[in-house]
Amino acid sequence: MSGFKAIMVTKDEAGTQHAAFTTVTEADLMEGDVTIRVSHSTINYKDGLVLSAKSAVPRKFPMIAGIDLAGIVESSAHQNFKPGDAVLLNGYGLSETHFGGYSEKARVKGDWLVKIPTGLSAHDAMAIGTAGYTAMLSVLALERHGLKPADGPAIVTGAAGGVGSVAIALLKKAGWHVIASTGRLEESDYLKSLGAAEIIDRKELSEPGRPLGKERWAAGVDSVGSHTLANVVAQTKAHGAISACGLAQGMDFPSSVAPFILRGVALLGIDSVMCPMSLRLEAWKRLASDLDRTLLASMTKTIPFDQVIETAATILNGQIRGRVVVEIGS
Ligand code: NDP
Repeated sequence: MSGFKAIMVTKDEAGTQHAAFTTVTEADLMEGDVTIRVSHSTINYKDGLVLSAKSAVPRKFPMIAGIDLAGIVESSAHQNFKPGDAVLLNGYGLSETHFGGYSEKARVKGDWLVKIPTGLSAHDAMAIGTAGYTAMLSVLALERHGLKPADGPAIVTGAAGGVGSVAIALLKKAGWHVIASTGRLEESDYLKSLGAAEIIDRKELSEPGRPLGKERWAAGVDSVGSHTLANVVAQTKAHGAISACGLAQGMDFPSSVAPFILRGVALLGIDSVMCPMSLRLEAWKRLASDLDRTLLASMTKTIPFDQVIETAATILNGQIRGRVVVEIGS
């Protein structure tokens, strides 16, 4: 393969970003000790931001987009990887400071790579992607905090999205009574099929609320932020905790200290991008063992590489249900 296909983000003189398919050669790739033939990637909310030029995610230009990739090692100077290994990569600056996964080939640091766990295909790994791995990190954080299903229900906001869908399936598998908050009540059957026991309209949480409310849940995974997160925290039981991982409603957090100092509620921050390798490996091991493949398939749509740019625009409008896998190459 001399020249290969990639989606490159450029910035023009007026500062406007553009994403377009281009042909790249290996000589164009950035430094790294492992070269990968990319077979699959995915579309996360952050990819939508990059491809729609709605945020300053790339910090260098030109930049190959795509925060996730899965594929086969073609060559390696890293001791942990050899040609033929099936690997995945989430974050670590892909699409920000290092060329990302929307490319038929990638050259990256071996220190960033995870071997695809036994029992998962490259397609499965990208059906999970950053969104699913973040959902797992969120659940692990709740468990590390010592919370158990016997403590009360768990709420998942942004329920029909990527993080939300996987979080519901994982929490249900771990034994939680899951309350799903969604703006798409027409997806109630879908959310119940993933494991939600109750569905609430996200309008209940998205408007400015009181500093403390009725105690409704012991735990939660919030991918929405803003007033939704503030209300979720205000309605968390004493000594419960919420994993905060997203900003689909907004980056603000218009809350008060009341839930923290009067109820001992904890807010657990989740960062998938620079998450330490030991925690990544724990998350992927647990995903491989706990995430039901039939449920994963039911929440996943697969698209060809040439549909990425148009599809990514729809994720920002909350129009994508669950997860999207992108078929990059063979
Ligand atoms: P999705 O678009 O798939 O899911 C987001 C969901 O949020 C939507 O499906 C929708 O769910 C809900 N939503 C959308 N807009 C609004 C709104 N204005 N108000 C309230 N709810 C809304 O995105 P992902 O699941 O990929 O990502 C979710 C969030 O998590 C993003 O903000 C993303 O940046 C963040 N994220 C953070 C990571 C980290 O490392 N911390 C890693 C991965 C993601 P519904 O229709 O059910 O209401």
